[in-house]
Amino acid sequence: MSAKKDAAFATKCIHGGLNPDPLTGAVMTPIYQTSTYAQSAPGEHKGYEYARTQNPTRDALQANLASIENGKFGICFSSGLAAMDNVLKLLSPGDEVLASDDLYGGSYRLLTAVFGRFGIQSRFIDMRDPGHVLSQLSPATKMLWIETPTNPMLNIVDIQALTDIARSRDILSVVDNTFASPYLQQPLELGADLVLHSATKYLGGHSDVVMGAVITRDELLAKRLYFLQNAAGAVPGPQDCFLVLRGIKTLHLRVQRACENARHLVKVLQDNPLVANVYYPGLPDHPRHAVAARQMRDFGAMVSFDLKEDTLEAATQVMKNTHYFTLAESLGGVESLIGHPATMTHASIPREQRLSVGLTDSLIRLSVGIEDAADLVKDLENALAAAVSVAG
Ligand SMILES: *Cc1c(COP(=O)(O)O)cnc(C)c1O
Repeated sequence: MSAKKDAAFATKCIHGGLNPDPLTGAVMTPIYQTSTYAQSAPGEHKGYEYARTQNPTRDALQANLASIENGKFGICFSSGLAAMDNVLKLLSPGDEVLASDDLYGGSYRLLTAVFGRFGIQSRFIDMRDPGHVLSQLSPATKMLWIETPTNPMLNIVDIQALTDIARSRDILSVVDNTFASPYLQQPLELGADLVLHSATKYLGGHSDVVMGAVITRDELLAKRLYFLQNAAGAVPGPQDCFLVLRGIKTLHLRVQRACENARHLVKVLQDNPLVANVYYPGLPDHPRHAVAARQMRDFGAMVSFDLKEDTLEAATQVMKNTHYFTLAESLGGVESLIGHPATMTHASIPREQRLSVGLTDSLIRLSVGIEDAADLVKDLENALAAAVSVAG
């Protein structure tokens, strides 16, 4: 039965917004694989006319997402970027988006190469210092686009400080919560108007689906987004909705374990003589550790590090010699992944610009999964040793 309002996060993952199927009592939400619904007379129906507009499997997921983000409305889209596309359609030509300069590459591309052509300009700034953000607002600024922790440098932005600034200026605040997941961070509680997810990552959690979602408490914003969801039509299919619903049921357990595993790996990396820097918000000497501790339940399962031998060749040797860490883009699945931002996710950013934010040639990013911690540690240590024996 549906989770009560005061239920804890784990209970909401499993029960939030969900009820047994009214037709059969099926405990798990059925996959309503249909494009249309029978009407008993013209215009007389059970609330469902056409599946772009409404689908019961999608409804269940949207209610569940609203519950786990402590929101009121969930709106799902066919990918994380489709979700962002629709959020940006809340704006009008002449409006400006102020976004963090350490942004998911696809988000940067959508803002610049697509919305730029429609008269919605974006500026990219360092958002770590709220005072700096305040000084960068212009009369055209209508949306603050916040991502934290950032990718791949794991910088932390103070959500509460920035949403306070946005509210005082009547600017919409949006937090891309993909990297943290709702288990670790709840931006609506910290004042955000909209939370966005690539459900492809931790929400789905099993690397078998592409989907996006937006969650809000604001009824007017929700109405406009449901309108856009139907009017622009980037809706997810019912089977994908089922998969994400199923993924969310173990979200709390998966993220807990992934964070635990990440802590082990961070320690091993710090002790390894071949490693130069380890980037992880859980480290006491991370420049925004205190902010992370305040706004996150734990410090996440994304870890970046670079090598003392700062070359593409050395990094390549490490990545070619892991056994359990699969070399791939994406994150947030049960399996551990390893990636090289300079040649993969961030290849389109000029090298000088990359280096200026610490994104070196040897920087390696881990999405830590939920395998056995000792196996992951051994795997990474072996890969580092293999790299040095080649280099030496
Ligand atoms: C993957 C990702 C997106 C885009 O989501 P898709 O589902 O791939 O469209 C947006 N933001 C962040 C932080 C991501 O990691």
